[in-house]
Amino acid sequence: MISGLLDALPLGVLGLLVGSFLNVVIHRLPKMMEMRWAAECAELHGHADSQPDAPKFNLMVPRSRCPSCGHQIRWFENIPVVSYVALGGKCAGCKTPISLRYPAIEALTGGLFAWCGWRWGMGWEALVWCGFAASLVALTFIDWDTTLLPDDITLPLLWAGLCASAIGLTQTPVISALWGAVGGYLSLWLVYWAFKLATGKEGMGYGDFKLFAALGAWFGWQALIPMILMASVIGAIVGIGIKLFAQLREGGYVPFGPFLALSGLTSLFFGPQAILAAIGL
Ligand SMILES: [Zn+2]
Repeated sequence: MISGLLDALPLGVLGLLVGSFLNVVIHRLPKMMEMRWAAECAELHGHADSQPDAPKFNLMVPRSRCPSCGHQIRWFENIPVVSYVALGGKCAGCKTPISLRYPAIEALTGGLFAWCGWRWGMGWEALVWCGFAASLVALTFIDWDTTLLPDDITLPLLWAGLCASAIGLTQTPVISALWGAVGGYLSLWLVYWAFKLATGKEGMGYGDFKLFAALGAWFGWQALIPMILMASVIGAIVGIGIKLFAQLREGGYVPFGPFLALSGLTSLFFGPQAILAAIGL
């Protein structure tokens, strides 16, 4: 018990810091993708140098600023969760309220990392699962905000799952991880095309296939059915809820990625088979 806490605490602190970084990733990665697409389009149309001196924008620069007043966030205003509480949830410059989502994502990531430390003890196994959890947190919020699941996260997550299995850092046998990745991608690809041919609409995107393939790589093909059932049921409930009670987004489109990610995190906590047990199968 005590040793579990000693493993959980340092990873929990690491998780708070990673959560703070994830806030930047969630905010900036979709913008970076858009800029990359715009640059590629410009190149395609033969005016690649139309914006030669656009300001640098990536995960490291520029420093974070208040979106309302441009106040540059100083290091002591950027301590996960603590700064939010100390500042009373307001910008130090202009007192504009800061979204509760920032400390919530930090606390969530800290909690997930602490749990991995408690579950596996300090070591590589806990760290790879921390990386898995952090990727899912980022994907969840990026997909919810923008309906994008960046390849920059889904593809490394897929490869990492296969590699972690191959070197024995997950309990998933490598052959099961391989077929999990293939089956995860193919199953949703088939559903996508069946739905598209039948209705002419796109029910999900290619990012969903890649994310599900990644989950298959981490948990093995046996986990695919429990995970897709859970994601579909919760996704349907939330989707209907949003359509009934809120006009949250244009077109009422609810991305599927957050629910896939949620079933991945549930599998991390309880094991994929527990999902089947919970829904009585
Ligand atoms: Zn401000």
